[in-house]
Amino acid sequence: MINIILLGPPGAGKGTQAKRLVEGRNMVQLSTGDMLREAKTSGSEMGLKVAAVMERGELVTDEIVIGLIREKLTGEAGGGFIFDGFPRTLKQADALAELMADLGQSLDAVIEMQVDDAALVARITGRYTCGDCGAVYHDQTRPTKVDGVCDDCGSGKMVRRADDNADALRTRLLEYYKKTSPLIGYYYAKGKLSSVDGLAEMDAVSAAISKVLDGAQ
Ligand code: AMP
Repeated sequence: MINIILLGPPGAGKGTQAKRLVEGRNMVQLSTGDMLREAKTSGSEMGLKVAAVMERGELVTDEIVIGLIREKLTGEAGGGFIFDGFPRTLKQADALAELMADLGQSLDAVIEMQVDDAALVARITGRYTCGDCGAVYHDQTRPTKVDGVCDDCGSGKMVRRADDNADALRTRLLEYYKKTSPLIGYYYAKGKLSSVDGLAEMDAVSAAISKVLDGAQ
């Protein structure tokens, strides 16, 4: 069992790579973004409270996301946890270290996915996903074979995120550089950081991540 963090700005490919690790290594993806979107869809009080914050591209409070992660850590761990989009602040990183220690678990690797900002804008503004199975597509670089129909599960329910637009993306990038990018130095100092080229072909990125995981085991 191996527990890792995928770290990188919005659009770096964290979700795509996490899904591959779930399939290939039976790991469990813990995406706080997905959890928050689910809370919003289910109409829970918390979900409705954070919806506007998310739509603007700002971070929700540390207390809320730490609470979400805490609940999941005692659940099914499979081949290990992939933290995707968490932690995003130093406070969350410290909280994660504490939670893992309490459970007698270790954080084995932090993988920084490096991409340049111009590529992020292009990636994010063309992005859509299958509302049923979560497969990720892109208008230019990876459209569905049949317009509006998921290649993987055949669903016709394609969705675009409310915060995948130029305005919200600017805020998300600012939040990343102000609050999340310090985690790169934090995990480097803890001897846990590895960096991969997030702009490489999807399979090459997966191979680079696998190499890190095999080295950390
Ligand atoms: P993501 O799907 O990871 O891009 O997250 C979408 C949005 O959910 C972010 O822009 C934030 O508003 C919120 N969010 C997700 N994860 C976190 C986190 N760890 N801390 C604070 N806000 C988060």
